[in-house]
Amino acid sequence: MPDKIKALFLAAEADPFVKIGGLGDVAGSLPRALNAVTNADVRLCIPFHGAIQRQAYDLHRVATFEIPHVNGNIRAEALATEFNDLPVFLISGAPIPADAPVYSSDNLVDGHKFTFFSLAALELMRRLDWRPDIIHANDWHTAPAIYALSSKRDMFYINAALLLGLHNLPFLGVGAGPALKGFGLLPAIESNLPPWAQDAPLPLGLLSADHIVAASPGYAREILTPEYGSGLHEFLVSRADAVSGILNGIDTQKWNPETDPELSSNYNPDRLEARQENKQALLDEVGLKADPDRILFAIISRLDPQKGVDLVPEALRQIASMPWQLIILGTGDATLEDSVRQLEAEYPHRVRAAIRFDAVLSHRMYAGADALLIPSRYEPCGLTQMIAMRYGCVPVARATGGLRDTIRDCDRSKNGTGFLFKSASSDSLAGALKRAVRAYTDRSKWGAVQLAGMKQDFSWNRFARQYMILYKKLIRTQKHIHLV
Ligand code: ADP
Repeated sequence: MPDKIKALFLAAEADPFVKIGGLGDVAGSLPRALNAVTNADVRLCIPFHGAIQRQAYDLHRVATFEIPHVNGNIRAEALATEFNDLPVFLISGAPIPADAPVYSSDNLVDGHKFTFFSLAALELMRRLDWRPDIIHANDWHTAPAIYALSSKRDMFYINAALLLGLHNLPFLGVGAGPALKGFGLLPAIESNLPPWAQDAPLPLGLLSADHIVAASPGYAREILTPEYGSGLHEFLVSRADAVSGILNGIDTQKWNPETDPELSSNYNPDRLEARQENKQALLDEVGLKADPDRILFAIISRLDPQKGVDLVPEALRQIASMPWQLIILGTGDATLEDSVRQLEAEYPHRVRAAIRFDAVLSHRMYAGADALLIPSRYEPCGLTQMIAMRYGCVPVARATGGLRDTIRDCDRSKNGTGFLFKSASSDSLAGALKRAVRAYTDRSKWGAVQLAGMKQDFSWNRFARQYMILYKKLIRTQKHIHLV
């Protein structure tokens, strides 16, 4: 076992360079946490998207080389920088145009971009003669790096363990097959993947990785079932021994009620009563009347069918006679935006809808709302429940994926941290909301739930240690699945 584990971390996006979603959070945090707490040598490699502010970083060119393609070699340029002690490489070339968004809606276009990126990242390390002990790719975009190494014998990487991080299974990259083929990555027609998946990048990564790590232990189990398996559950069951889950962490410096500059009043577990000031300020800000006996619910979410926000209006109607208020912050699907606006029109004295992305308001909502509603249909990990607990805002969530892994139900556990419900239905959600409204009437009990949540450790440091245990195990037992 090497003294210092060398890991190449590949992702389509990484905060703060460029962040579109949760993957950006992970890629921006986990490599640094690994280096800081486990003495690893992790290097991050991302595409040099147009959205990345060149002048904000001290970038220097480290290599130029060509990537073979059936229509002629494509030139790649690699730039390097250090960010908070993390070595970062950015790759540019014609498939990564400066005027294109990070993701388009065309998997063929994105497949060309990200396969080029994945292969260029591997080639770059060869040029730099930096030989990783492990390649940690993420989601469909960088899965081609893993497939490439297992479908062609490559002496430089012969000892590297291949790990694929899975943050959202339904995004398989279907339609990108011809783009992979252009770079010489042929469909796996003799594999046990279903025929429709044999040329899609994520399934190919799932087929060829030494190990698959999902964004929570719960999600790792769920993807083996027809309900969550995106048509791949039978295949994934055949790889069940190679599937596990590790939770994502949250940035505990950014999300800290004791120092958060956006709050009216900072607080910690010993000064929980200060939340009252934040609640008052939040209600004033959105124009709702304060009433100490009303529980204030919040939703902070992408408005996407995945998040189950469509279950909320009917659930609230069912508990209309109970004392609650609700603030919704979200944007996304037009139909869901409309239904949220309608809910505000239906309950003008109780509901406010902020249809936008507003990071500042989100901080104030975590600090001022009493409970956060998270009725997700599926949730690979979920960050909002962890942030909410850190802020003493009690989660009311569907028992799925990472939500179930991180929230202890108040009626099932002495040390409960929230309220869980089972089925993705308004009735089931209403049942959990009722339990929350009733619990809120007993303030000492409610305070105990808040404190139990605030005591949880959701820091990246904790999860980085779990990743290092996995890295070491894979390096020790590494034997490539050579497909050829
Ligand atoms: P996902 O990545 O699936 O959207 P997560 O729970 O993992 O869901 O992370 C969502 C993150 O985005 C959280 O930090 C949450 O506070 C933030 N967020 C979601 N919607 C909004 C919004 N409309 N305004 C501000 N922040 C938002």
